[in-house]
Amino acid sequence: MEVQTLKYPAIRNYVGGSAAEPAGAATMDVFSPLTGAVISTVPLSSAATLDAAVVAAKAAFPAWAATPIKERVQIFYRYKTLLERDMKALADLVREENGKTFDEARAEVEKAIELTEFACSMPQLIQGEFLEVSKGVEARAERKPLGVVASIAPFNFPNMVPHWTIPNALVLGNTMILKPSEQVPLSAVRIAELLKEAGLPDGVLNIVNGDKRIVEAICDHPDIEAVSFVGSTKIAKVVYIRATSNLKRCVALGGAKNHLMVLPDAHPDMTASNVAASMSGCAGQRCMAGSTMVGVGAVDGIVAKIVEEARKIVAGQNLGSVISKEAKERIEQHITEAEAAGAKVLLDGRHAVVPGHEDGYYVGATVIDFVTPDMRIAQEEVFGPVLAIMRTNTLDEALAIENANPYGNAAAVFTSSGSSARYVMDHAQAGMIGVNIGVPVPREPFSFGGWGDSKFGACDITGKSSIEFWTQLKKTTTKWNPESRVNWMS
Ligand code: NAD
Repeated sequence: MEVQTLKYPAIRNYVGGSAAEPAGAATMDVFSPLTGAVISTVPLSSAATLDAAVVAAKAAFPAWAATPIKERVQIFYRYKTLLERDMKALADLVREENGKTFDEARAEVEKAIELTEFACSMPQLIQGEFLEVSKGVEARAERKPLGVVASIAPFNFPNMVPHWTIPNALVLGNTMILKPSEQVPLSAVRIAELLKEAGLPDGVLNIVNGDKRIVEAICDHPDIEAVSFVGSTKIAKVVYIRATSNLKRCVALGGAKNHLMVLPDAHPDMTASNVAASMSGCAGQRCMAGSTMVGVGAVDGIVAKIVEEARKIVAGQNLGSVISKEAKERIEQHITEAEAAGAKVLLDGRHAVVPGHEDGYYVGATVIDFVTPDMRIAQEEVFGPVLAIMRTNTLDEALAIENANPYGNAAAVFTSSGSSARYVMDHAQAGMIGVNIGVPVPREPFSFGGWGDSKFGACDITGKSSIEFWTQLKKTTTKWNPESRVNWMS
């Protein structure tokens, strides 16, 4: 029998500081979407495997939580330098398993560094409160970790999304189970190895690979205190309901349908390059992608420039692949359906082929005009390099389209009018708003999180808001001087 040698060794779990073979687990092939080749395998672990990881995380918790935060952050200062040292190798890994371009993959690692830097500022941010609340009586409030927490990740940012949760949750004293997407499990292994090299004690971060069974087991596990999830809205809802019904904290980020409202007074060149980059960056597989544009009034000239810009985005060159054969088929089906429903395909990315990578999963940049709000392409998340353009006469009509959508991740306006921009800032029902910016990701220390069906749960997943999620307040009232003059509290 021929023994197949894969480019990367079979992925294993990571428990208590070393690689762990999940007993009896079935495995799944990991494909590189760039070529369609199998590059590794990933275990589909059982609930029993999760138990072992939770035991390790629970055992590591007391010593980690008792380590002063100023010592905990030293590990992350060192870790940041390791991310910088290994930037190219980490970006190559992201590119290989996810299919994005090298520049996009490197930007993802740069963002991971920024997230790590933010976590290093945590001692300054979580300094407690103290007050003499009554004569001789002092109250103080301190932020304490929750215990073992879990982080469940999607396929589209194999390096960055784990960094939305790992640095903040760990610096704040929690121990963690990470469940990467089974489609992109390679980057997580390196993250764990680099954290160990930086000095993270064994058991503080554990990785359990698998599919929905592990996610369900995480939601049900009695020793996991909080669950963060990033993925599609359908699964985010399931996870939020299951985790909270088991009395856990949960923040679950879902999908998106972000509208870019383009006014006739927008700067044509800047708008065209921003809109084209927003819809096609990371092959449109970003929850912040501007997948729908609403042109208000006379914007034909700007639309023509957008098509011109999109034409320069070429699959296999400055446009990566989508994640799978199924994703490619789904995206192309969306385009075909929209065309059949009467929309006009101005630039057609169907059946893109990259020479030398004929089996890769590529969809070319696509621009479709005269889409109407009732079409499926205007309503569902396409998650590919496709821009659907709708037309309205007024900004209020554009806002009505944006706000009728159940998602609420991001919305943006392109205009040179301050009052129009302000109007959108006030009236768009989304958690992240852009003015003349197509991908309005809030950078640290601002937090990341949408509204509506794009996020379930009270806190955002990053930035200052995440501090509330990953900690609980301990309030202590003390009196050390029994001789002090008493009042009602003394
Ligand atoms: P997904 O929902 O299919 O998978 C996410 C995670 O859930 C994976 O770890 C997967 O193993 C697990 N999962 C899949 N099916 C499950 C089920 N039935 N029960 C329990 N767990 C299950 O998402 P994806 O395809 O990996 O990622 C793309 C989606 O993620 C898009 O919708 C995108 O918009 C969204 N996303 C959102 C944000 C955000 O910030 N809002 C960020 C990144 C990605």
